[in-house]
Amino acid sequence: MMRTLLLAAGLLWIAAAPAAAQTATEAQAVAATATGMSDDQLKKLPAKKLFGGQKGPATSMKARAIGSYAKGCMAGGKALEVDGPAWQVMRLSRNRNWGHPELVALVERLAVEAKEKDGWNGLLVGDLAQPRGGPMLSGHASHQIGLDADVWLTPMPDRTLSRKEREEIQGKLVVKDRKRIDPAVWTESHARLIRRAASYPEVARIFVHPPIKAELCKWAKGDTDKAWLAKVRPYFGHNWHFHIRINCPADSPNCKNQPEARPEDGTGCGNELAYWLGDKPWPQPPKPDATPQKPAKPAPPLTLSALPAECRAVVTAQ
Ligand SMILES: [Zn+2]
Repeated sequence: MMRTLLLAAGLLWIAAAPAAAQTATEAQAVAATATGMSDDQLKKLPAKKLFGGQKGPATSMKARAIGSYAKGCMAGGKALEVDGPAWQVMRLSRNRNWGHPELVALVERLAVEAKEKDGWNGLLVGDLAQPRGGPMLSGHASHQIGLDADVWLTPMPDRTLSRKEREEIQGKLVVKDRKRIDPAVWTESHARLIRRAASYPEVARIFVHPPIKAELCKWAKGDTDKAWLAKVRPYFGHNWHFHIRINCPADSPNCKNQPEARPEDGTGCGNELAYWLGDKPWPQPPKPDATPQKPAKPAPPLTLSALPAECRAVVTAQ
């Protein structure tokens, strides 16, 4: 009986865990074939497999962010150390702790300052980018040019986490739902951390779940300078982590900034927040008498031709 159970458990494990590994191996095989291909052949390859299959950065190239946040790649990426004086990187198996050196420096600085001044023991850091940026095999539309980073809202424990823990620990939700913060989890330290991140001049935007923005608007009532609040944008899914996006660095002429975040009231605490706390942006449940819709055909995977031409050199570089 025990043997059967163990065997069943083992098979389950084999079926579940290596599905991701298999995709990664397949992507590595695609990436390996790219070197030596003609430009025309390269253009037709699926971008996420090519970039998802790269294990290391294009070290022969200088650091540059190329293209736009959700359509581009990165040359000369730098790794954020997995253990720093004030941070630990999570989900190491994903190999997404790579960024433009300016982003890496900014995450390090935020972690150290949050520890010194904001009541954080240290930060748990989520995904930055793949070694050469580009589209990912799973998750995230952006994070492609080494200028985006996810930081957990769960405090770092007072010990070094094992690799296994870094795969398995789940971030704690700081909200009850899409309208309400969870006051049992949310603390002033969270607010201080997000304000600090948004106050750095390099930072273009921060994404948080709508009730987090609402809480920050209340909390910042007494602030004389509220310009940082304009950069904090409500967005789906950022309920246990927040997302930091920095501006294009000076060394990256082919990097495309987004228009500056400029809510009409200067903070985004008025109409913009009201919109996000309403029902409009959220998917509506179908009406009971609605005729069932045909499922939309999935869009074909992005090929390299959709990315800036320079990304073909990045993906084939040594
Ligand atoms: Zn993110």
